[in-house]
Formats: sequence, structure tokens, C-alpha cells
Amino acid sequence: MVCLVITYFCAMIKVFLRRKISQRIANGHPWIFNNEVEKVEGDVHGGEVVEVFTHDKKFIGKGYINPRSQILVRLLSRDKNADVNEQYFYRRIEECWEYRKKIGYTENCRLVFGEADSLPQLIIDKFNDHFVIQTLALGIDVWKPAIVKALNEIFKPKGIYERNDVPVRELEGLVQQKGFLSAPFETRIVINENGLKFHVDIENGQKTGYFLDQQDNRKAIQHIVKGGDVLGAFTYTGTFEIHAAHYGAKSVLGLDISENAVEQANRNAELNGLGNVCRFQAANAFDVLKQWVKEGKQYDVVMLDPPAFTKSRETIQKAITGYKEINLRGMKLVKPGGFLVTSSCTNLVNPELFLQIIDMAAKDARRKIRQVVFQTQSADHPIIWGLENTQYLKFLIIQVI
Ligand code: SAH
Repeated sequence: MVCLVITYFCAMIKVFLRRKISQRIANGHPWIFNNEVEKVEGDVHGGEVVEVFTHDKKFIGKGYINPRSQILVRLLSRDKNADVNEQYFYRRIEECWEYRKKIGYTENCRLVFGEADSLPQLIIDKFNDHFVIQTLALGIDVWKPAIVKALNEIFKPKGIYERNDVPVRELEGLVQQKGFLSAPFETRIVINENGLKFHVDIENGQKTGYFLDQQDNRKAIQHIVKGGDVLGAFTYTGTFEIHAAHYGAKSVLGLDISENAVEQANRNAELNGLGNVCRFQAANAFDVLKQWVKEGKQYDVVMLDPPAFTKSRETIQKAITGYKEINLRGMKLVKPGGFLVTSSCTNLVNPELFLQIIDMAAKDARRKIRQVVFQTQSADHPIIWGLENTQYLKFLIIQVI
């Protein structure tokens, strides 16, 4: 309480940008890097809300500051009159919810997608009555109680869980942690998607437990899998594969390197009464696909959804090599006239580069390809033009001739 009162009465910290900074910030980008700042007026500890000005004292916006981070300030608002307080977060989260309802994502959705929702580094996934949150920077982490309070007031949820076991928090001087932000609840829940049911393990699943960003893309395989033999690699809990079986595939085999994922995928198949069509196997997809190419195996549809392969621009070549290699192998396993369904989830590989990689793989495989569908993540993960990390998912279906 004392702390809050002091913050309230103290003059707000002021950050002045250098004269020659890129247009990026003026054009709406919310990140301000250390080397773009001329001076900071006030006593900074980290996590405070600050006002940002141009070198000639024109107001730019309000954001939160962390001297430990390379991104010194992340802007929350361009409004001089915005009071960043508990009520502010309530209103923003309410606006995020109104937007999701407007675009038709209600039962399960990414309720808050960080920078794209003007709440930098805040992720909130809504799994029906349960919420999973990530606060990945110090300046948003300090508002966690306000965020939880807002969720309780707006949704009256059955449970809220924190999945802050993410290494990027360490760059902000934060510890990795996970746990309940509400009374404890059963963290293994079941959600509905496209008329199917899926187990979601909020506590121990990958990221927030489930990849909501592919929800529309899973539906996009509806027609091409009918009556076919389908192979899926990087299956995780089997979501694409179970969709394939539901849409009428003759046989479906899913591969994942994680035994735990395979076990969950099998449970998901059973949950939907599709255990007789779907089979899952723990395997390294790189090795197995290579072996099966040698053996001359063929499928009507091959689906790939590999992890990012790299998290930094320096090792981008590693990602390119990985994507090319796996897609080359995948393509070779497709019967003439069949389909390859392929994804890439890192923003470091932009859509154009991804298509180039697929093109290279097709040339190496000596196969002609035809684009069927090319899209991105579902619309509950909004894309802000100029904010490159908001467009990250590429989802491509090609016919392999
Ligand atoms: N398609 C899934 C998400 C896949 S995430 C969905 O929509 O829910 C990527 C998956 O690839 C993870 O489950 C991870 O365990 C798996 N994986 C990583 N490297 C692998 C490899 N070499 N072989 C097989 N699976 C791998």
C-alpha cells in the first residue's frame, strides 16, 4: 500500500529518445531499445510505468521500463491521459474479450496476444472456463494481481494457472515458475474443437498446454484426407491426426519424439472413438522419414508441424536446413497427386522464405507442386503490420504431383 501511494505521488519517470531514432517507434512499434534512448529522468528500479518523449520533448507514449533488458521500454499506450492502473488492465482485457467475441472466437481462444493487443509480453489462453497466463517481462509481471483480478471479475473462471516456466523471463531478471493463480483445480481438462474433444494438460503440456493457433488450419485438411492413408509427424497430442480420422481418412499414423505426447495422442484418439483408425508412435521424425523414403513407403497425405528449430536470427540457417530437410523427406513420401500439409511456427522464417524453402525441397525431390492453401495462425492471434513477431505461423497445403 505504501509503495502504491509513493508511486502515485512521485513524478513519473521520463525517457527521452535520441534525435535520430528510426521511424519504427513513430510508426507504432512498441519497443524502445537501450541504444535509442538519450536520457532517463527519475529513479529507475525496473518495472515502473514511464512516459516517453522525443528528443524535443514531444509526448510519444506510456510504457513499462526494465534497465536489465535490451528492450528498455515497451509501450502500453499512446494516450497522454491514460492512467496505467488496475482499472486500465481490466479495461484492456475486456476490450480483448469483446474483440474475440466480435471475430467469433469464444469457447477456446488466445484472449490476449501480447504486443498485438497492446499488452506487451502478456499471453492469456482461454480454455473454456480455464485460463492460462504468461507474463514474460518484468513490467507486465508486476501487474499479475491486477490481471488475475480482471479475469475473475470478467469471466468468473473455474481456474487460472501461470505457465511462466519460460527461459525468456530470465533475460528480464525474472525466475521461471508455474502454479495456480486461483484455488487449485484439476489441471487436466478436456476442450472441444471443431466437433472433437481433446485432453489439455495445463500444468505439464507444451507452452500453455495446447496450440490454439492451428485451430482453423486443422479444419483446412477436411477434404484432402478423405479415404486416404495419412502420415503425421510432430504430432504432439495428435490434434491434426485425429481431425484427419474424423474427416474420413482410411488410416492415420502420427509420430512424435516425446513418449508423453504419444500417450496423450492415444488417449485423445480413444476420447473421440477413433482409436481404430489412428495409431501413434514415439520416434525421431527425421530418422524415420529418411528410412521410410528408402523403403519406398507412400502416403496420400503427409502432415508436418515441426518445432521452431531456432530462436535467434544468428542461427537462422539451422532452421532453413531443418525445414528443407524434413519437407524434402515428407514430399518424397507423398504418392503422385497426394498432398503435403506443412507448417512453420517461427517468425524468423517469413512467409516468402518459407515458400522458397518448400520450392527448394520440391526441386531436390524432383516433384512438381501446386499450392492449395497458404494461411497463417487463427485470427484470435492478431497480426499487426510492421510488428514482425506477430505474424509467425505459416500453414501450407500443396499437391505433390
Ligand atoms: N501439431 C501439434 C504441435 C506440434 S509441436 C499441434 O497442432 O498440437 C512440435 C512437436 O514436435 C512437439 O510435440 C515435439 O515433441 C515434437 N518433436 C520435436 N522434435 C522432433 C523430432 N525430431 N521427431 C519427432 N517429433 C519431434
